[in-house]
Amino acid sequence: MSWDRNIVIKSPAEIALMREAGRVNALALDAVRKAIAPGVTTAELDAIAEELIRSYGGEPIFKGYPGPYPYPATINASVNEELVHGIPGNRKLKEGDIISIDCGTLLNGFVGDSAFTVGVGKISAEAQRLIEVTEQALYEGIRYMRAGNRTGDVSAAIQRYVESRGFHLTREYTGHGVGRDMHEGPQVPNYGTPGRGILLRPGMTIAIEPMVLVGTARTRVRPDQWTVVSADGSLTAHFEHTVAVTKGDPMILTLP
Ligand code: MG
Ligand code: MG
Repeated sequence: MSWDRNIVIKSPAEIALMREAGRVNALALDAVRKAIAPGVTTAELDAIAEELIRSYGGEPIFKGYPGPYPYPATINASVNEELVHGIPGNRKLKEGDIISIDCGTLLNGFVGDSAFTVGVGKISAEAQRLIEVTEQALYEGIRYMRAGNRTGDVSAAIQRYVESRGFHLTREYTGHGVGRDMHEGPQVPNYGTPGRGILLRPGMTIAIEPMVLVGTARTRVRPDQWTVVSADGSLTAHFEHTVAVTKGDPMILTLP
């Protein structure tokens, strides 16, 4: 839990700068969403996001991000059993797929980090329900992003919502503080105990990101060393917003 020592409180002026980064990131995600259709490649989606981010003077923060080797693209494009960190390429989307797009924008020295999952054309009822539960789990978590609560309250709300609907949450990947760096403290897992964890204070900015699997919570990493898939090959979904804790209501920073 070394990230928990790296919690950076932002001033209102810094949060305003983060809101701008988050807005551009949201515009990039919207542009990608509009382009998603059968026959489109994930590399084409990646180019759309990069062009939009750069047109606003931003930088795609994922590109070159350190890992087993520097991450090679602007977005994560994770299809079906791919949970997170899917690398865009020449794979063509087909009717019935579901795709998760995760993107991060650096602008004004701050990062906005957000993700969504959507169906390609007509999808199965189970896939639709998975997407709806994952998206709502994000908002269940955000509701607890209030000063005086603890990270465990956010984590527990997400876990309660998802597991009571028969789906599973990864234990290996978590939400995280975000600011000048894409990964700051605190870590916010998608499972936890109410009243435990880090005390939330105004000026904390955290990416909340439920990552949900149909079959089991277990994942593995593909030989490309980035792409995380469900161990059993079942469908997965991912939603994320960067959210500021304020003196009042939580403020979502990654809206258009
Ligand atoms: Mg993200
Ligand atoms: Mg994130």
